[in-house]
Amino acid sequence: MSETNILPVPRSTEAVAAARHSIEICNACRYCETFCAVFPAMTLQREFSDTDLGYLANLCHGCRGCFYACQYAPPHEFGVNLPQQFAELRQETYADHAWPPALGKLFHKNGVVVSILTAAALALVLILVMVLQSPDTLFAAHEMVPGAFYKVIPFGMMVWPFSIVFLFSLLAIFMGARNFWRATGGEGLSQGQSWMEAIHDALTLKNLGGGGHGCNDVGEPFSQARRRLHHALFYGFSLCFLATTLGFFYHHLGGWIAPYGVFRLPVIFGTLGGIGMVIGSVGLFWLKVIGDDEPTSKKLLGGEVALLFLLFVVALTGLLLLAFRATGAMGMLLAIHLGFVMALFLALPYSRMVHGAYRFAALLRAAIDQRTRKPVGADGN
Ligand code: SF4
Ligand code: SF4
Repeated sequence: MSETNILPVPRSTEAVAAARHSIEICNACRYCETFCAVFPAMTLQREFSDTDLGYLANLCHGCRGCFYACQYAPPHEFGVNLPQQFAELRQETYADHAWPPALGKLFHKNGVVVSILTAAALALVLILVMVLQSPDTLFAAHEMVPGAFYKVIPFGMMVWPFSIVFLFSLLAIFMGARNFWRATGGEGLSQGQSWMEAIHDALTLKNLGGGGHGCNDVGEPFSQARRRLHHALFYGFSLCFLATTLGFFYHHLGGWIAPYGVFRLPVIFGTLGGIGMVIGSVGLFWLKVIGDDEPTSKKLLGGEVALLFLLFVVALTGLLLLAFRATGAMGMLLAIHLGFVMALFLALPYSRMVHGAYRFAALLRAAIDQRTRKPVGADGN
């Protein structure tokens, strides 16, 4: 493993020790070699530093395939439980590499943090709207003419605070992933083929496919449910982002002011995206409810559920706003929706949402290593 660019991160923790214990057993066993990208990456190394383990943890997609295949999984005394151990280690890597570093602490109480941010952002937007608007404006049925939304929340108040928070969140996610990349000794960024492979694997969630038969979503049977629901959530979120970006260009370049008709692209993309996010968030939550909790980390559950809830309410309030925008409910729905959107933007860099950036960095590193390094035998030669 390259020692260049190593930053002064991780300290050996229980999560690191548990992951090292398991991966050393895996490296001798190698039964799961074809399951996902973790095992081919593991076979390139003889020893595993703390940062190597953080890299492998971020390559793991938590499909649980190795847990149900493993003869050393609990109740065996070796206690090999990679999906659970890697999940806890991943969370530590997010905290260790967070930017600004002081905010990394937010990951330690993630469920509470996401909930407080949600409540605070929602309350703030609601209070501001109440202070700025008379009840007549807030609860009146507005004609859907250009600028109708801005009668409730002025354009400047809607665009600037949200743009600043969103850009800060993107910067924080980028800096965190960059810190992670540098800390794990990543190099070879100019390899176009590796980029293509990593992008393909990320966009298709190849490592949740279990080589074709799917993963162990709720127990031993294989299914594609988790992969499809994750796709619904990811592509739904992307469509909503695209809708907002298009709205920005419509406004500033086309001079077309929201709200738009139902057949305009921002509304079509936003509606499809919102439906995808609702299906994805509810479905992933349901898998948590009915799934075997042995390969999951119970201490991370609160943060994961809080984030799914936040994604769900952002999408649902957006869809409700579209459905009831010509009624007297529009003012309150707009304020509530924007409150949840602000909470999501604030939570983005300090919640599990960062996993996309870290996982992509790990996939890229794995693709580069597969081209440039040779596997080490199970005997270490
Ligand atoms: S998870 Fe278990 S079966 Fe799979 S490689 Fe590791 S030790 Fe072997
Ligand atoms: S849980 Fe799935 S993705 Fe993670 S190491 Fe095991 S087989 Fe690989």
